[in-house]
Amino acid sequence: MYIKFWGTRGSIPVPGQTTLKYGGNTPCVEIRTNNNQLIILDAGSGIRELGKYLSGNGYNDPINIIVSHYHWDHIQGIPFFLPLYDKKNKITFYGETSNGEKIKSILQNQMTSNYFPINLDEICANAAFEEIKINSSYNIANIRVETLRANHSSPTVTYKFIDGEKSIVYMTDNELKLKDSIDDSNKIDVNDIVELNKELIDFCYGCDYLIHDSMYDEISILGKKGWGHTGNVTLTYFSIIAKVKNLVLFHYNPDYSDEKIDNLLEKTITIAKGEGTELNCIASKEGMSIEF
Ligand SMILES: [Zn+2]
Ligand SMILES: [Zn+2]
Repeated sequence: MYIKFWGTRGSIPVPGQTTLKYGGNTPCVEIRTNNNQLIILDAGSGIRELGKYLSGNGYNDPINIIVSHYHWDHIQGIPFFLPLYDKKNKITFYGETSNGEKIKSILQNQMTSNYFPINLDEICANAAFEEIKINSSYNIANIRVETLRANHSSPTVTYKFIDGEKSIVYMTDNELKLKDSIDDSNKIDVNDIVELNKELIDFCYGCDYLIHDSMYDEISILGKKGWGHTGNVTLTYFSIIAKVKNLVLFHYNPDYSDEKIDNLLEKTITIAKGEGTELNCIASKEGMSIEF
């Protein structure tokens, strides 16, 4: 399988000198199956560059775009996705009905004339819209895709992609549950993580790559219980418990500079090593690719 990051930032695009290393675009991840079929995870502003790349290389094979949820940072790039405007392309959008509204209607609404000059129904590509439900299994691009509910402020789906022996979990905009954020000693109660996140642990168990929300460090997440995001220390312990092989930090706080994210990664690596585990920790960055 192949993974490439086109947008790694949460909430809002943040171009500028302090985000050059990890990137300022909002979430978009390209996955290629072992048979080189294309799945795109989320359509933040990062999807614009991916669209230019696909169109520039004459790509006209099927395009599958899977959306975790409909907060702006996960759909705002769709109107700027160049393959939409080429009638040779077949694009299928996958997403959950959210707060009673189907994916097609939600995506149409962000392209009505108050927001964008071209309506979704006017686009040339052959677009289809498929409903996703949680706790379900699908065949997308000829691989198995499983779904689970994430803990977020709006209904959000987390996805597992299983291609033969290989697996990737995409779990962004997810709050790992804890009784208290941290105690005074800055130490996570591991039993809390096990007890309160059983379903998520089972879902991720033994996966090759976990791409997970790491919006905050463990101090700044204090007081943000219920916001639907996770601190990096909790996430590291969760990954150790779930026997994840590679943890990929993702969906960074828009206020975090490259230096701050370097520190997040360093802390994450220190914990993983300190616990004597084999967990490999990586910080996603725009343009980074992984083949495994
Ligand atoms: Zn988000
Ligand atoms: Zn969100």
